[in-house]
Amino acid sequence: MALTGVEIFKLLPKTNCKKCGFPTCLAFAMKLAQRQAALDACPDVSEEAKQKLSDASAPPVRPVVFGAGERAVKMGEETVLFRHDKRFVNPCAFALEVKDTLSEAEILVRIEEVLNSEIDRVGQKLRVDAIALTNDSNDAERFASAAKVIAEKAPEAPVILCTENLQAAESALKLLAEKKPILFGANPGNYQNMAALAKSYKVALGVTADGPDALSDLTEKIKTLGIEDMLIGSGARKAKDILEHNTLIRRAAVKKNFKPLGYPVVTFARREDSLLETLVASVGVAKYSSIIVLSSIERWKNLALFTLRQNIYTDPQVPMQVEQKVYAIGDANSASPLFITTNFSLTYFIVSGEVENSRVPSYLAVMDCEGLSVLTAWAAGKFTASKIAQFLKESGVENSIKHRELIIPGYVAILSGAIEDKLDGWKVTVGPREANGIPAFLKSRTA
Ligand code: SF4
Repeated sequence: MALTGVEIFKLLPKTNCKKCGFPTCLAFAMKLAQRQAALDACPDVSEEAKQKLSDASAPPVRPVVFGAGERAVKMGEETVLFRHDKRFVNPCAFALEVKDTLSEAEILVRIEEVLNSEIDRVGQKLRVDAIALTNDSNDAERFASAAKVIAEKAPEAPVILCTENLQAAESALKLLAEKKPILFGANPGNYQNMAALAKSYKVALGVTADGPDALSDLTEKIKTLGIEDMLIGSGARKAKDILEHNTLIRRAAVKKNFKPLGYPVVTFARREDSLLETLVASVGVAKYSSIIVLSSIERWKNLALFTLRQNIYTDPQVPMQVEQKVYAIGDANSASPLFITTNFSLTYFIVSGEVENSRVPSYLAVMDCEGLSVLTAWAAGKFTASKIAQFLKESGVENSIKHRELIIPGYVAILSGAIEDKLDGWKVTVGPREANGIPAFLKSRTA
């Protein structure tokens, strides 16, 4: 069970030296109990106390990493049930199922789909993170030869080896151990041998059982065999069961600090109907799955799931914003148009994307409005005529352009006169209300 703040306080040095960044040991202890501080912030805590406090300071969902290098996937470390309580830490990973019954050519097509899945959205790279190789053949040789294709053609892609067949597991691990795959297939019947394999190849072990109760029994047994890094799958297939099991698991881990269920969850969303699969996967994204295995990754599906994942795993306390400055888009010169907008990331990327689409080199002045969109910033008094005028004067943009025309977003047309009053010699032009009107707007100016 988690320790209370007072119990933690009793184990701290009680010198109130402030080295941890808190005014007293008691304040630090309270933050530790709420999981809002890390124990290593106190340099003077004794080894004995560290041992006792490790449970209290460890995140309730164990962090587990699989894959190697830049594409390695980190899961777990979650501390809350609801995003608004603090934030969700590690975004769930998407994995594409690759059956070992496929031909080599078909496997190569699926590998390419994973490797080419990356898109850029509001400055973040989003992609399908991993390959889930499934042992549908139940044949060790076939599983190993599919693993060999993946090892050779996608050495950078993290892999989940899904098999309950020990021979197949070992033959694939021999080929992929360096990639730090997950060995997913320990069940109540084979867990001892699977645990031994995971231990000897130093990989995380995926554990399945029929429902959360059976799962917690099994992870406890596996832990006694010396396995720390586990992932769990409750076998839920229906969206209702995924929601119920995942919520129960996260609640037990976070609210009760119940260690046997404190592991990242794997959800198999696979369906023949791709739309239904997307909906089932969405339940996993919204409710606590750390890995979601998909049977196909069409572009439309990726866009929907990537966007949902990005929205859920964005820290609600930190506005998404870009740096305040004047950005040159294309080969902008002294005659290029000058637009202005706010520094909300989504606004910046949409507006800059539309300016790029227009193929008219331009300047885009991005003003710090604490990450608010244009209308919200205007309503909050952060995107006002005097602040815009001050920003433009301080930005030095007057040295980059020979004209004195500023194009403002159509939604704040009301500001045009006031900005002209504040900026001597400047003309303010009202641009389109929506960013997608920018290409036509620019074209009409050059016609
Ligand atoms: Fe107390 Fe350690 Fe913080 Fe110093 S650094 S105030 S001893 S908890």
